[in-house]
Amino acid sequence: MPAKLDWRALERSWQKKWNWRKIYETNLDPRKPKYYVTAAYPYPNSPQHVGHARTYTIADVNARYHRMKGYNTLFPMGFHYTGTPLFAMSKRLGEGDPEIVETFTKVYGIPPAMLEKLKDPKSMASYFREDIKKGMMEIGFSIDWRREFTTIDPLYNRYIEWHFQILNRKGLITKGTHPVAWCPNDKSPVGVVDTQGDVEPDIGESYLVKFRKDDVIYPTSTLRPETVFGVTNLWINPDATYVRAKVDGELWVVIKEAVEKLQHQNHKVTIEREIPASELLWKTVQNPVTNNEIPILPGSFVEPDNGTGVVMSVPGHAPYDYQALTDLKKRYANSAESQQVLQDTKPISIIRLEGFSDLPAADLIGKFKVKDQNDPHLEHATQELYSKEFHDGIMRENTGSYSGMLVAKAREAIVRELASQGKIETLLELRNAPVVCRCGTKCLVHILENQWFINYGDPEWKKLAHKCLDQMAILPEELRGEFNYTIDWLRERACARAVGLGTKLPWDQNWIIEALSDSVVYMAYYILSKYFTKDWVIFKKFENDTSRLPDAFFNFTLLGEGTIDTVAEQTRIPKRILNAIRAEFQYFYPVDMRHSARDLVSNHLSFYIFHHSSLFPEKQWPKGIVANGFVLMEGAKMSKSLENIIPLRQGIAKFGSDPVRVGVMATAELGQDTDFSEGLALSIQERLSALIGQARKLGAKKTAGKPKFSTLDRWMVSRLSSAVQSATNALDRLRVREAINIILYQLDNDIAWYKRRLGPKKPRSDNRDRILRKVLETRTRMMAPLTPHTAEEIWSRIGNKGFVVQADWPQESENEKDALAERAEALIRQALEDTGEILKATGITPKRIAYYTASDWKWEVYLKALKAAKEKMRQGDFIKDVMGDPQLRSLGKAAVDYAAKAIQQANQMPDEMRQSRLRDGVTAESTIFADSVDFYQREFKCTVDLWNEGDPSINDPKGRARMSEPYRPAIYLE
Ligand SMILES: [Zn+2]
Repeated sequence: MPAKLDWRALERSWQKKWNWRKIYETNLDPRKPKYYVTAAYPYPNSPQHVGHARTYTIADVNARYHRMKGYNTLFPMGFHYTGTPLFAMSKRLGEGDPEIVETFTKVYGIPPAMLEKLKDPKSMASYFREDIKKGMMEIGFSIDWRREFTTIDPLYNRYIEWHFQILNRKGLITKGTHPVAWCPNDKSPVGVVDTQGDVEPDIGESYLVKFRKDDVIYPTSTLRPETVFGVTNLWINPDATYVRAKVDGELWVVIKEAVEKLQHQNHKVTIEREIPASELLWKTVQNPVTNNEIPILPGSFVEPDNGTGVVMSVPGHAPYDYQALTDLKKRYANSAESQQVLQDTKPISIIRLEGFSDLPAADLIGKFKVKDQNDPHLEHATQELYSKEFHDGIMRENTGSYSGMLVAKAREAIVRELASQGKIETLLELRNAPVVCRCGTKCLVHILENQWFINYGDPEWKKLAHKCLDQMAILPEELRGEFNYTIDWLRERACARAVGLGTKLPWDQNWIIEALSDSVVYMAYYILSKYFTKDWVIFKKFENDTSRLPDAFFNFTLLGEGTIDTVAEQTRIPKRILNAIRAEFQYFYPVDMRHSARDLVSNHLSFYIFHHSSLFPEKQWPKGIVANGFVLMEGAKMSKSLENIIPLRQGIAKFGSDPVRVGVMATAELGQDTDFSEGLALSIQERLSALIGQARKLGAKKTAGKPKFSTLDRWMVSRLSSAVQSATNALDRLRVREAINIILYQLDNDIAWYKRRLGPKKPRSDNRDRILRKVLETRTRMMAPLTPHTAEEIWSRIGNKGFVVQADWPQESENEKDALAERAEALIRQALEDTGEILKATGITPKRIAYYTASDWKWEVYLKALKAAKEKMRQGDFIKDVMGDPQLRSLGKAAVDYAAKAIQQANQMPDEMRQSRLRDGVTAESTIFADSVDFYQREFKCTVDLWNEGDPSINDPKGRARMSEPYRPAIYLE
């Protein structure tokens, strides 16, 4: 047993060598085609965990694979500082938030002494940036670090200003009044990156139907205004406080919590007085369409945060209302006065629905066996009924002029009519409330006036985005629909924030461009950033005063606009540098593959398409997107509360980087979530150690002389060729799981068979080591993108020079496919299995085994049968045809019987097999078996004889030979 490998030492030593030789630093090379890979730059407000590694590892595999296929591959990385997350995190730390302190010290192992420094957002960013970068180096990503930048670098800010000036000039930035999700504390719009748990706020519209008592209005929020005909009562929360307030000149009664919401939606609200719910209960109000007097009843389910806190009750068609009314009647069974009111409150049927009674809500309560109003089945009942009634329901006779109308139609008509009478308004709500800002405040909908929006609703822009998407590769392809949907669905999107880090809006310095707007064209900046760093002497003056770097610089280098003379004169940047940047941009752009996680399809990745299609000419539009699923931990979602987060660097220290790389990719293809576990990582580590062990055994000794390969040797080479073909197909589609299986696992089955067939090593008599070294060498090249460190170790141990990560990806044609050899081994394996089964069934320990291969005439009939089956000849005709041959006829019944069997088999055979066997013709089974007698003797530990059925000297005591068939020799045991 060899000593346990020191994974980290092994990996570090290869990483050092790669860095020393700068092999991942990629420059323009006109002799080579280029391949440009980018992955979403990380947000350094915490260390990365194992789950983050998936996207980057797949990007790295893709980069390495293309490098080996001869592409001059660029894979750069930067850091995204923009926005509120860093602010929020350092603020929470500053406030001593115990959850953050515990996560930082216990989960991420940050020394407590460090915490003080992290209370400043920029220090926190640089601390985690270093940590993330170290992790990316330790896991062996092939990144060109010369191009690293952050989104608060002055020149990056200047670049984003240029980007936004162009959008503005093209009319894609609008100033307007639109609803946005809003944090009242920060007084700023919020998007997915600004909320706790990264929730994208979802704004939806509901209606306020105005019930009335004298001159006081009770606005009820609802999504189904057409059911106003069936309202039997209103619900209010009995424990809440309501207010009477002047709203846009009307007197309203709403829950106290609704006041702020109304104000944020531009209603003028003045509170007159607070009213406890008890004061409103059991009073009546008037239905705005039927004029019926209905009571206000207690409903503890009425959420203070939802709508106005006043809800219409439609028990005939809303399961919640039906159940609440039932429960209420039970509760007040002993109160005479209340009971009278409740007895008069009866469900009203206003919608006819095929297959349901007058009261569909009651039907569904029965169907779902709902027990009370807290029963979770109520939600299912509600969803089912709402959707059925909306699509198939018809308004009944008691709905006036809407009678006979489809519900969907009636809804529109009623809204129109009530609006014209001032009896309805709309209210915007966060459908996925509560959405909490990173500062801890609950978000709401705000009508933002005179704010800056990117107009993704622009129809011409949508057309360009669609055109760009249509030309792109999307992996996995099934995500294309989601992209199309997003492009169609996107509207104006607030692009600036009041707080956070980032670039100021160039024409309105009070606003900062938000994180999902300044991160969509940074892939072009990687070309610039190399020169900004390399030629710092020239560019530092712009860093100090970015206004000195004019738009003309970006227009020339990135868009090819303007003349070099003017730009050189204006900027004093040497022409050779301007030319070099322009040439490098033209060489590397567009991005060939953008890697990200699939939850970014509906925002970042779609914005990326939009902005590129507008900013750059068509030939520089992005070529492809890969979006992968998440990583689960032992089958569960990773979460701090479950304490199942493994920080990436701790994972690497514990398992090694190659095991982590494979571990985050091995259990699922792109679209699905993968499952990482300690057991998996350890088993991968063991697998990789075993492969290094093989290399150690084979050593660096090359076998001299020209080899003469046996059929078995040729079989192994042929199998290797198939593996190369399958692995290449898999990696072309980034089916990494499949590639891992083929390369790290499946090849072993073939190697095991090869060794088993060869038996104990005979140094001079076979090509064993030569073949095994060839297999391992090719395999190592295929491993290099997946497990680069292990691959280098093996590569050097078997005596190869240079880095395997710089070697060529194996070609299928290097290792010839050999159909003959594959057929021969299939036969041998089949006979081995058949014999094994007979031994198992009979329990015999054989002293002798005899194999009888089929005689020549059987082969003749067999091939005829294959041909006849292909031509769909009838069985009778076939037998007649066979017996027409005088030689076969002379064999009598044996020939008739076999012909019948052969044609039957040929008819049932899959078409493909029939074709290939026809193509192969007579297989030299006698020779194949003759070569494997040794093997069978070794396997069964007895004498093995081999006869051909027609052999005159045949030893066939039980007459088994006549059972032999082509591809299926007869077996005799004694
Ligand atoms: Zn906030």
